Amino acid sequence: MAHQAVAKLSVKDFKADLKPVWCPGCGDFGVVASVYQALAKLGLDPDRTVLVSGIGCSSRLPGYVNTYAFNTIHGRALPVATGVKLANPELTVIVAGGDGDGFAIGTGHFVHTARRNVDLTYVMMDNGIYGLTKGQVSPTSPHDLVTKTSSYGNVEAPMNPVLMALSCGATFIARAFSGDPKSSQEILAAAIQHKGFSFVHMVSPCVTYRGREQFEIVRERIRPLPEGHDPRNRDDARRVVFEDTDQVITLGTIYVAERPTLEDGHDRARRKALARGPFSYEDLLRTFIPDDEAVAAGR
Ligand code: SF4
Repeated sequence: MAHQAVAKLSVKDFKADLKPVWCPGCGDFGVVASVYQALAKLGLDPDRTVLVSGIGCSSRLPGYVNTYAFNTIHGRALPVATGVKLANPELTVIVAGGDGDGFAIGTGHFVHTARRNVDLTYVMMDNGIYGLTKGQVSPTSPHDLVTKTSSYGNVEAPMNPVLMALSCGATFIARAFSGDPKSSQEILAAAIQHKGFSFVHMVSPCVTYRGREQFEIVRERIRPLPEGHDPRNRDDARRVVFEDTDQVITLGTIYVAERPTLEDGHDRARRKALARGPFSYEDLLRTFIPDDEAVAAGR
């Protein structure tokens, strides 16, 4: 949608009084800073902006931003956000959460929100571990990672959230790194402006359960999009996604497409609804018995 801007808001207008309780050095500090910058840059009206989250360290984020917010239950942020958007399509709705919340219990909701192309921005802060519950293996934990629930190394292969977003029909897909706030805020602003389901895979290290060295490890593995990459070309996007491995993390806007949103569909249906009239008994009858004689006979 065309997001409504208000005059001259700054970063401090979006900072809530509540101070973050994340561990010192947590990657999520960089994410919330980028969210403030993006909202201020777009000049969004805090009274018409809603942040929705599930449960987890990163799901605390809405409490730190001066907009409306809804901290829902584990893995259920996307359906609640869909309800908010359908109830009032004029709102800018942003969803924040982590890899455990979004890609374990929340996986089914991700699939259907992407295929429905709901006009939301989903910022998934991926640290490859459950931080809030103190360090268990998550759906994006690397193979062989030793955690409290994988003492001999993670025996499962990690899922690829960007590949999943591309497969399920997200119409804006990007990857950012919380240690690079400048490009993160630009990506977030573009994602919020996009009409349709925007997915931002935000690599955001957990310093407590993955170690402070995670920032350096990610920095060594990141690379920009290949020269000439066209985000509107699905084959270009597919190439980037398949070339990414544990060792290569491509940052930037990977894929952008346009197609009708869920709200467009509901709006069309609402306009066609019989209750909107002009209503005639014959028209109603014809929807069930498309036979003029039967209609004339009142049968
Ligand atoms: Fe951040 Fe990890 Fe601490 Fe959670 S446990 S606040 S993800 S550093």
